[in-house]
Amino acid sequence: MPDDLPANCFDPLRAEVQPAVPIAGYPNTVRRNPNRAPFRRPLTRTELTGPRDLGPLLHPGDNDLARTAPGRIAIGQLIHVAGRVLDEDGRPVRGAIVELWQANAAGRYLNPLDTRDAPLDPDFIGNGRTRTDEEGSYAFFTIKPGAYPVPESGRWWRPPHIHMSVLGPSCLSRLVTQMYFPGDPLNAHDRLLNAVPDAAARESLMARQLPPAEVPGEWLGFVHDLVLRGRRATPALP
Ligand code: FE
Repeated sequence: MPDDLPANCFDPLRAEVQPAVPIAGYPNTVRRNPNRAPFRRPLTRTELTGPRDLGPLLHPGDNDLARTAPGRIAIGQLIHVAGRVLDEDGRPVRGAIVELWQANAAGRYLNPLDTRDAPLDPDFIGNGRTRTDEEGSYAFFTIKPGAYPVPESGRWWRPPHIHMSVLGPSCLSRLVTQMYFPGDPLNAHDRLLNAVPDAAARESLMARQLPPAEVPGEWLGFVHDLVLRGRRATPALP
């Protein structure tokens, strides 16, 4: 390890901030989580740094899921989701790639595995990507996703949620998580959200809705910060 990277330069992870996996009734967590304790090896500069410019991953319009083409608007409640990517000390993480994916307003994904009997929207794909600016800020236009029943798992429904990924600041640092909408009655029954033991950590997965008078356009505004590590780390969700 290089001299300028002390061995204990990060706060230790708190287990109660992360969901207890596998999550009963959610078959995906069996496939998406290791069933053995992680093997720890020291990080070197290769793992702790990354390319300076992840920009080639981006294309114009990638952060606008609501408009697939000029004059074509997705069906659903238009929303703006913005926030900051922060490190464990509240400092902005610049140049990180933030990606999101979500169901359409009817709760259906544009994915061959989603064969549920709910309508697809020809004007909604459901994937977006952007990069944080100098303040660590990101923003997306999209629509509020619908709830959907979880297949193969009995009768429970996912509340409206947006899947998010942060890639950066290094190539190997990646957070995959989900954003929830405050006040949805299904939140109390969501097995993923409630697999996170710590109440403050669960609350950190809720976006904050802005008062409509503070939002400049004809959409609802939500603010959601993502914290990569430390005491206030955003929980990782599959
Ligand atoms: Fe989902």
